[in-house]
Amino acid sequence: MVARRAPKRSSDLGPRTSDLGIYVHIPFCSAICNYCNFNRGLYDANLKARYVEALRREIANAPEGLAADTLFFGGGTPSLLAAEDVASIVAAVRDRVDLDRAAEITLETNPETVDRAKLERFREAGVNRLSFGVQSFHDAELQRLGRIHSAERARAAVREARAAGFDNVSLDLMMWLPGQSVGEWLSNVAELIAAGPDHASLYLLELYPNAPLKEDMARAGWSQAPDDDAAEMYLRAMETLEAAGLRQYEISNVARPGRESRHNVKYWQDGEWLAFGCGAHGTLAGVRWKNVSGTEDYIARVTSGADPVSERRHLSADTRLEEALFTGLRLVEGLDLDEVGARYGVNVWDKYGAALVPFVEAGWLVREGSRARLTRAGMLMANEVLSVFV
Ligand code: SF4
Repeated sequence: MVARRAPKRSSDLGPRTSDLGIYVHIPFCSAICNYCNFNRGLYDANLKARYVEALRREIANAPEGLAADTLFFGGGTPSLLAAEDVASIVAAVRDRVDLDRAAEITLETNPETVDRAKLERFREAGVNRLSFGVQSFHDAELQRLGRIHSAERARAAVREARAAGFDNVSLDLMMWLPGQSVGEWLSNVAELIAAGPDHASLYLLELYPNAPLKEDMARAGWSQAPDDDAAEMYLRAMETLEAAGLRQYEISNVARPGRESRHNVKYWQDGEWLAFGCGAHGTLAGVRWKNVSGTEDYIARVTSGADPVSERRHLSADTRLEEALFTGLRLVEGLDLDEVGARYGVNVWDKYGAALVPFVEAGWLVREGSRARLTRAGMLMANEVLSVFV
């Protein structure tokens, strides 16, 4: 299948395009945070060199004739790579894929891994968007999470990014941290606004079973605030951010107009993307695949010419429809039910309307013509509403 740049419709987020996204996974970290269950391990220079080589090889074997307009380095901690590594991966992508000259190229960056000079080199390597894992502007909270940067290092990293010429900077914050009050959370939001980002992602801390943080919490007697406080944290943060010009466009994401994450919007707008690296999963032409998770396993497979894919499945039209609705309703603008229905040959309201009516009556879901969207109150109940589709 050849993806070409064909706008399909317009919305606040711009046209939904058939261009692909490209995701590259970098599984290395300087230290392992006590709440993290991503696919990652400790940095090792030799392993990193072999991994980058394997990535270049996997990219060189990607299908030909594809066009992409976003490239996202996620992890892990991609900013542990040298700028030359990033440049060589971008070059490998450009060799194989028609990557738009104006492509959004994002690097997830941890504040302690960079200084101004390194950020300048990343920029020269083609990176034009930084997504900083700040998580908190309180040192005590950062220490509780096992993060190795300080609040001041995070603030300095944002200043360095601006000095290096980045005009698209995103900050991640985590809310509902152990021992965090509503007031402490809102002071984090105020610090974030003061740092002046173009985009921010707010994540609720999720404690997975056996997370070391759970043991730390039990030992230290920290607990998370009650659910009502978590709801207040979310609602007041969104109000404060919007008042500061950072418009909410997705359940967890806000941006200045035009600075929405073009890459992540593909996930929510039923888009397609290629994925490279260990544990990475991609979707193209109705097929979803996932690479082996282990870094050494991945390198061994790619280096020997074997397929790094460990799972590959054809998505049925029903599954694709469910996913399009499930992810599309995460966007503040919601989605056009007629358009999604036409894509998959069904009348969406005939199929799901009866199950959705109670949410409309509760004020969680709004129908406007052929569009449907969650209200902010509905976003707090998103799991319940979206479960209709799974
Ligand atoms: S830096 Fe990110 S990926 Fe690495 S251990 Fe911490 S949370 Fe996980």
